[in-house]
Amino acid sequence: MPRSKNPLSDPKKRAPETQLVHGGTVRSQHGETSEALFLNSGYVYPSSAAAERRFKNEDPGYIYSRFSNPTVEMFQQRMALLEGAEAARGLATGMAAVTTALMSLVRAGDHVVSARALFGSCRYVVEDYLPRWGIASTLVDGKDPANFEKAMRPNTKAVFLETPTNPTLELVDIAAVAKIAHAHGARRVVDNVFATPVLQSPLKLGADLVVYSATKHIDGQGRAMGGAILGSQELIGGDIHTFIRQTGPSLSPFNAWVLLKGLETLPLRVRQSTESAGRIAEFLGNHPKVAKVLYPHHKAHPQYELGKRQMQGGSTLVAFEVKGGQETAFKVADALSVILISNNLGDAKSIITHPRTTTHQRLSEEIRLESGIAPGLLRLSVGLEAAEDLIADLEFGLGV
Ligand SMILES: *Cc1c(COP(=O)(O)O)cnc(C)c1O
Repeated sequence: MPRSKNPLSDPKKRAPETQLVHGGTVRSQHGETSEALFLNSGYVYPSSAAAERRFKNEDPGYIYSRFSNPTVEMFQQRMALLEGAEAARGLATGMAAVTTALMSLVRAGDHVVSARALFGSCRYVVEDYLPRWGIASTLVDGKDPANFEKAMRPNTKAVFLETPTNPTLELVDIAAVAKIAHAHGARRVVDNVFATPVLQSPLKLGADLVVYSATKHIDGQGRAMGGAILGSQELIGGDIHTFIRQTGPSLSPFNAWVLLKGLETLPLRVRQSTESAGRIAEFLGNHPKVAKVLYPHHKAHPQYELGKRQMQGGSTLVAFEVKGGQETAFKVADALSVILISNNLGDAKSIITHPRTTTHQRLSEEIRLESGIAPGLLRLSVGLEAAEDLIADLEFGLGV
């Protein structure tokens, strides 16, 4: 039988793990095993007439790496396969992805509704930049979908949310909010960084666009910045492609290559960290110095049922509040040996953050407290170290 008759010749018939190793690979004339790094800005045409055809879109070849590059294209194809999306674009950072997605959907006079528990810079874009450009925005408590319904206006063009949220791991019911937004003719944009594409599929739950900071789990090894937007060919190939082409928040080929290699091991890494995170949440939930543990698949999570329904795992992050407020939180973090004090997440190295004094310092104390960012709150991003070592490290830290 010829290989072309093999059903696995269709990349869509392959399991996600297989797609993440092989998906999107286009080999050059040298037949290299690993994906080639095309570190070039421009392309040479055999003739002026060929250049003209390329610019008229009569010939599909590459023109300029601000909007088309073979290595970036391999990353985009692989991401699209994983997410089950028609199309994807790589961006320079996660924030470039969020900003591009929102700016492509709205114009002056429009309105955006967003869950208020957001990654700090996302909140800045929604709360500060959109209104500066004549786009009104309303922030709601995302835990109850009814709050989105109440905030919708005739000119609401986009609904934006993140789930689980940063740093308190609150959940938003993607399917319920998508239904409400759809009924009002608004596009649904979901920031899926905390869940990763391995544990949650927003497009299948009714989202129009999914955005990622690829800096987090997709690289997963603290090396490169990157972002991605996924959705229908109509949206991605239309307004979003034009925005990237004309304004340039583009992913560099070098970073795309790093991220492609990251994708090969994404499910292995995310599942390993998620398993450890579950064990750590259990340990923290039973510790006398811990006032509260927040983990979507831990029984104590107020939205445990939704977490089980919407997510295939509890995520690689655990948030917890220590008794004794900020002073104790600092003492715990400062006593750790394996777990590093940093503000990144989704890394092979476990990282602890005190949101009140770092990532969420800009917010007023009132807003912080209404978002659950208590003085004793710590956010732990679980890496790939042995779970026993991480638990022993935390046990020592909580004992001092
Ligand atoms: C990190 C992060 C971003 C921004 O990504 P960058 O790559 O740092 O620009 C956006 N949303 C969430 C939820 C994040 O964790």
